[in-house]
Amino acid sequence: MRARRHVQSPQHLRLAALVVVAFATIFVAGAAESQNTQQREFAAIDVERLTKVAEEPGQWLTGGRDLDQSYFSPLTGINDENVTRLGYAWQFDTDTTNGLEATPIVVDGVMYTSGPWGVVYAVDAATGEKLWTFDPEVDRQFARFACCGIVNRGVSVQNGKVYVASLDGVLFALDARLGEPAWHQKTLFDDSRGYSITGAPYTAGDVVVIGNSGGEYDARGYISAYDIDTGELRWRFFTVPASAEGPHEHPELEVAAKTWDPDSLWEVGLGGTVWDGMAYDPELDLLYVGVGNSTPYARKVRSPKGGDNLYLASILAIRPATGKLVWHYQTTPAENWDYTATQKMILAELEIDGRERKVLMQAPKNGFFYVLDRETGELISAEPYVPVNWASHVDMTTGRPVETDQAEYFDEPKLIFPSPAGGHNWQPMAFNPGTGLVYIPALEVGAVFQIPDREFKYVPRGMNTYSLFSFSVDGPMGISVLAARGLDWNALKEGQPDPTARSILRAWDPVTQSERWQVNVSGPFEGQFAAIWNGSGIMTTAGNLVFQGRTTGELYAYAADTGELLHVVDLGTSVIAAPMTYELDGKQYVALMAGLGGAGGRAHFPGTAAAARGNAGRIIALTLDGGDVPKPPLRRPAPPPGRPSVERRGDTETIASGEALFEQHCTRCHGSSGVGGVPDLRSMSARVHDRFDDILLRGALSGRGMASFGDLLEEADSEAIHAFLIDRSWRAFEEAQNDQ
Ligand code: CA
Repeated sequence: MRARRHVQSPQHLRLAALVVVAFATIFVAGAAESQNTQQREFAAIDVERLTKVAEEPGQWLTGGRDLDQSYFSPLTGINDENVTRLGYAWQFDTDTTNGLEATPIVVDGVMYTSGPWGVVYAVDAATGEKLWTFDPEVDRQFARFACCGIVNRGVSVQNGKVYVASLDGVLFALDARLGEPAWHQKTLFDDSRGYSITGAPYTAGDVVVIGNSGGEYDARGYISAYDIDTGELRWRFFTVPASAEGPHEHPELEVAAKTWDPDSLWEVGLGGTVWDGMAYDPELDLLYVGVGNSTPYARKVRSPKGGDNLYLASILAIRPATGKLVWHYQTTPAENWDYTATQKMILAELEIDGRERKVLMQAPKNGFFYVLDRETGELISAEPYVPVNWASHVDMTTGRPVETDQAEYFDEPKLIFPSPAGGHNWQPMAFNPGTGLVYIPALEVGAVFQIPDREFKYVPRGMNTYSLFSFSVDGPMGISVLAARGLDWNALKEGQPDPTARSILRAWDPVTQSERWQVNVSGPFEGQFAAIWNGSGIMTTAGNLVFQGRTTGELYAYAADTGELLHVVDLGTSVIAAPMTYELDGKQYVALMAGLGGAGGRAHFPGTAAAARGNAGRIIALTLDGGDVPKPPLRRPAPPPGRPSVERRGDTETIASGEALFEQHCTRCHGSSGVGGVPDLRSMSARVHDRFDDILLRGALSGRGMASFGDLLEEADSEAIHAFLIDRSWRAFEEAQNDQ
């Protein structure tokens, strides 16, 4: 099947590529001397060049620019004095409508980046002209396993190749000049489980490492390391054991097995997926890996007799040549709340108590900002960077969080901070060595956790999180559903942190573990679910600047030292990804991928640029004195819900069971109760109603990303879900009539 994978690289683009080679040779004169003595190559990056990236301020060589994953650029051409002149340079249409989460890499005048499914784009960084694109031609059925959007968090570039992983779990090494696969490897070891890949591969010396997603389904987490040149599998490291007795694939799992109840729910896979952050320190020769949450979330169901459940929610330091674990630090022992520690990590040198320390910094979902000694894994400090009520503090002697009475929701529902979205999610944070500050795209929101009335039942390749949660927001994703579940919101929130949902750009001093400044970036959404997703990933520069985009469609620039707002560029397209910057021919650019999606669901909330102007994805590059960014035309406002095309059917019980099935299988893409999703299921056409079973059970629209659920649901289930959605449609119509 892979033979159909194709590269769009017509002859004239190959010629354009050669022109870029010749052109690039001129302006990389400052690069390593050896490159000038031989024919220039595309993606001429090796570990040595990566370690010397400070000498090449104009390049952006990894997702976070450097090996530290700092999202910091030493460029000062655009700075706090002149950023008000920042305007349009060029754009590139990605031909997508799903979320864009990647930060482009720019090496020697060529930009490489990725989009939904794992499509790769190579464009001329001076003009935005396409050099090539690569489509991995993903099995669309995998859309079902994308818990948090059909997205891709980026490529890795080294040794003349561009590495990308497709949603269906294939790792590709593409020739950087033409985009043709040099090799590819199927990385999923078990097709019977709900795996997918949305994360970026990372290179560590002579291996390229990739994890996967599926922690909400039935994935058993692991990473795989492949030879960077040949693609041969070097090693695989599992983050959780397969069973109590083994056989354990590697010795670290014997240690881990002792931290689980022997009667744990092994068949569910247990989670621990590595879907985002990794980093590599060539001097220490350590690969750092962040591990995700548990499945099911509820620990008393997952591992009934307790235990820390290694290596869930941990940071691992692994020897890249052998795959051996050197140290580990578990941020959240006995994980219970979807508190992944797979958030991106930043490596830095900090002076702490008069000592220069090589540190690793992470703001995982659990709400504590961690500074670890990255050589030994020693905990240097940990303090809350958002409101936290599940733990009072991290004990510096044991290195463990001290749980409060509010942490356990098994016997009664609790309002817990942070929510399952975390105090920080996948959006990159950035570290500016000039100010000494880490800029965190922080999420301030809690969630009411509770155990469902039903017993846990394992659904192969289905959602197996079990715990229910309702965000502390108005609307169907949140507290509006509590009354229906017989819960009293006022009682739940009493004595707990302010539940108002916000997203905050927080400038954090990692040495003193305290806030230097903050900006509320909730935009028009404060208190709503959309608030926490409004702020994008972050980039900072030596020009005393911090950049952050918004789903409302702008790029904001702040003074890095004070947080003063300096400039807003109106883009007209929602931004969730972190921007980047580079210099070509003496001209500095700021570039980003724009397109809404990801963990916020496919809902385009009113007020976002996606709702106002559509969600056509694009790469936008800005430079000084560029003028206005071209904006997509405004869409006509959606009419109020019309009269449904079919009559109500099903009794109250059927509709209720349909709602429960919908919440379990459909909400992630279609919005809670079918509200706010894309498409809006309250206005299905007569034809869609006619084909409802074909679409849901037989994949009639799988080509458009609506996967078949025929292996999980029966005809009666489909009928119940259909009856529920029809009832929803009528209720929306009746409410609209009453409003008039
Ligand atoms: Ca998760």
